[in-house]
Amino acid sequence: MAPEQTLLSIVVPVYNEEDMVERFHQELARALEGRPERREIVFVDDGSTDKTLERLTFLQAKDPTVVVVSLSRNFGHQAALTAGIDLAAGDAVIMLDGDLQHPPGLIGKFVERWREGYPVVQGVREGTEDAGPAKRLGSALYYRVFNRLSPTPLSDGAADFRLLDRKAVDALKGLRERHRLLRAMIAWLGLPQAEVRFTAGKRPAGRTKYSPYKMLALAVDGLLGFSSLPLRAALWLGLAALAATGAYGLYTLYVRLILHETVRGWTSIVLLIMFLGSVQLIWLGILGEYVGRIYEELKERPLYVLRGVRRAQGPLS
Ligand code: UDP
Ligand code: MG
Repeated sequence: MAPEQTLLSIVVPVYNEEDMVERFHQELARALEGRPERREIVFVDDGSTDKTLERLTFLQAKDPTVVVVSLSRNFGHQAALTAGIDLAAGDAVIMLDGDLQHPPGLIGKFVERWREGYPVVQGVREGTEDAGPAKRLGSALYYRVFNRLSPTPLSDGAADFRLLDRKAVDALKGLRERHRLLRAMIAWLGLPQAEVRFTAGKRPAGRTKYSPYKMLALAVDGLLGFSSLPLRAALWLGLAALAATGAYGLYTLYVRLILHETVRGWTSIVLLIMFLGSVQLIWLGILGEYVGRIYEELKERPLYVLRGVRRAQGPLS
């Protein structure tokens, strides 16, 4: 498709960013200036309680490519992004934060990689100027644990700064689970990905809208959404306990029958406690397997995602 015929959607979630939106829009408009594509800028106001919505309406009066989506209350960053992606009409959808920590100047690079044929172009943080050592360590640790527990690979530094082409957007729309970690959901799609590296600068105005609690909730959502291993852990633990019961059981019998050193009742009590403990754990694990399956089914994820279909003639599309 010729560039002039393509539509780029820029999706920007904003929550109480009254001091940022105008400045952000200016920089974004500058970054898009002279681009051949048509564009729409979809701002999603995530239930702001300050003047964000008014500022957006004001922007729209000046720039008709601005689309203002407003959510009834604060649903959180991932939900706001989802709303924007759902409503975006573009052939490619680029999402980025409204606080300039994701430099709009890089949009050209994302589009370039997309034109090379990548359906997903992922922004990867090289470092965040305003992240403290605790946040950095926490995040490094989280990605390690995540990759251990989940078959979906997640790279440290993958930000919610990315381009999705229409096909990827439509595939993502098939994932309607409530607890969402978009970066993992997109990794789950498994479509070919290119990367654009960037350094997240300091926030020019306003404060982070991610409280430690929200951050933790997001981390847990991601982990539990992409791994049923914690549910199944009881089964392994139970089997290990059963093996230990066998070994220790032999020992108690040895003490009882060969050494004759026991207090009456000790052998049977120890054996019963260990045996019943293992049985309970194994049973919990079996329940876990079923609950895990119910959970998997409830998510109603698509069974597969097509990269394309090749017929005898014609291109992969
Ligand atoms: N955001 C949102 N809803 C929320 C929290 C944040 O729409 O409940 C927006 C926020 O306005 C910003 C982006 O999501 O555009 C990223 O949030 P923030 O910069 O606060 O996160 P951080 O960069 O500190 O991780
Ligand atoms: Mg930020």
